[in-house]
Amino acid sequence: MPLIDLILKQLKSIASKLASHIYESIAVVLIGAPILVLWAADALDLLLDMMQTQVRLWEAITLVLLVSVCTYLVTARTHSSINPKVKFFTYCNMKWKVSILKDTFKVDKIPFCIEHVQQFVRYSHDYTCPETEESICASGIPYQCHDDFYLNVQSSVENKIRNKEKIK
Ligand SMILES: [Zn+2]
Repeated sequence: MPLIDLILKQLKSIASKLASHIYESIAVVLIGAPILVLWAADALDLLLDMMQTQVRLWEAITLVLLVSVCTYLVTARTHSSINPKVKFFTYCNMKWKVSILKDTFKVDKIPFCIEHVQQFVRYSHDYTCPETEESICASGIPYQCHDDFYLNVQSSVENKIRNKEKIK
């Protein structure tokens, strides 16, 4: 076999090998590229979905927080308007229960014993401490004097509230 034939044969072999590799490469590119494109598109869609989901999630969280804050504020306002602040005002050695609601107040008509912190009960002609029966407690107020005491207490409490003094 002459040398030139041998070279040509080798070249043909290399060319055919290259050609077969080129076809494989082209086949790989032809099959792989759409898959790669689809994968990239899917990945992009997934990423966009995640971003949108996160935006929706943040919107939902923000909405829930806003609703919670609004509910809390409404509840707190309602709660404070229903449940007044209760203080005890000491007057003439008795405690008078004062309920303060915004700009208004109400003094409980029956005072409390300052020592036993129990509300008086009406007994005969007096308001007396319920502890009287078991232990001798001199706290009390004649029924006839009660209205005057009550008016004085109301006046004093109103004066303190108007001057923003502490009720005690
Ligand atoms: Zn008492």
